[in-house]
Amino acid sequence: MSQFTHLECSSCGEKHDASVVQTVCKKCGKPLFARYDLEAVKDSVTRRELVAREATMYRYFELLPIKDRKNIVTLGEGWTPMTPTPSLGKSIGLPDLWIKDEGIIPTGSFKARGLGMAISKAKELGIKSVALPSAGNAAGAMSAYGARAGMKVYVFMPKDAPKVNQVECQIVGAKVVLVDGLISDAGKLVKEGMEEMQWFNVATLGEPYRVEGKKTMGLEVAEQFDWNLPDVIIYPTGGGTGIIGMWKVFDELEELGWIGSERPRMVSVQAEGCAPIVKAYDEGLKESTFFQNAETKASGLRVPKALGDFLVLNAARDSGGKCICVSDDELMKGVSDIAKHEGMFACPEGAATYAALKKMLAEGSVDKSERVVLFNTGSGLKYTDLFNVDAPIVDPKEKFNYSSLK
Ligand SMILES: *Cc1c(COP(=O)(O)O)cnc(C)c1O
Ligand SMILES: [Zn+2]
Repeated sequence: MSQFTHLECSSCGEKHDASVVQTVCKKCGKPLFARYDLEAVKDSVTRRELVAREATMYRYFELLPIKDRKNIVTLGEGWTPMTPTPSLGKSIGLPDLWIKDEGIIPTGSFKARGLGMAISKAKELGIKSVALPSAGNAAGAMSAYGARAGMKVYVFMPKDAPKVNQVECQIVGAKVVLVDGLISDAGKLVKEGMEEMQWFNVATLGEPYRVEGKKTMGLEVAEQFDWNLPDVIIYPTGGGTGIIGMWKVFDELEELGWIGSERPRMVSVQAEGCAPIVKAYDEGLKESTFFQNAETKASGLRVPKALGDFLVLNAARDSGGKCICVSDDELMKGVSDIAKHEGMFACPEGAATYAALKKMLAEGSVDKSERVVLFNTGSGLKYTDLFNVDAPIVDPKEKFNYSSLK
């Protein structure tokens, strides 16, 4: 049984009724968090019992917000591999290096967790139509789960959004609108259409349940390391739901007695061309300000102002971690390093975590003896636009010079 009880503001603590549709805090406009009866969870399931459960994020059903299992809309997302990467680790002198690989999840990115959960909960609450401003993977995931739930799905994307994201939405039946402007313009269009179209806006942290899907990454990290959290978690940050969700669930796990009080140092990585949270961190601020002219190849990180920025900053600071940025050249180099060493085609966002780790090793903020987990948040296969192939073209009628390959 889910032990979800109510919603609570992540900033002012105001309680909200979870049996009706909610968005953000009615008092202060900040994101809402799902709260659980953790005593009841403790009485109903043990860590050992989890072992035999389904290999999806719904193995943690008691700690998730869906009340009735029949409302779950799933493509099998979650329980992704925690892959040891010894060759990559050795190349930088850090042997205990791991990649949590979200690249093999349905729809090709970890957005499946958040949107899978949000669509399931929307179904439970009777919502029939959803909309989202997105420049990428979130739109694809929402379209897929929305289709499976039989909902009407509307996606507003900047017209220069990657082709793969436009196609993945349209193929599952979403209505795609291409906006000749920025993601913020797309967001405005979704808001302005709400009254006439009666759709529910699933924008990041504008509803409480995407973060509950993303928190399952933290549960999996804990379980996959036999409930001993690593020393450092490095996570690529756009809207921040992943790092916020993991940080939230570690507290839930401690209250359950499933982990102790130790926490990994949480490291939030952004791209130099769009680093509002890193800027706020460096300046000692509680919140970020809108980052002008945001530009990076790692499209998942192109979020100039996140509603949950203060929660990301809290997680980084309270854990003794940090916020750090890397250049596009560094993160693209990371894609090829990870691929060549480990046979894993990471997305640019995921590779940014590796680039950040290298910087942190150089500056001494990570020690070579530590256990480090990088998050590869999606498949590089969704980003082939960014790569060129360097290969000879051969005329089969002529004799091929094999020695040119040596
Ligand atoms: C959206 C996205 C991110 C950023 O995730 P947040 O949880 O919103 O910070 C990182 N990587 C990829 C591939 C994404 O699609
Ligand atoms: Zn509030």
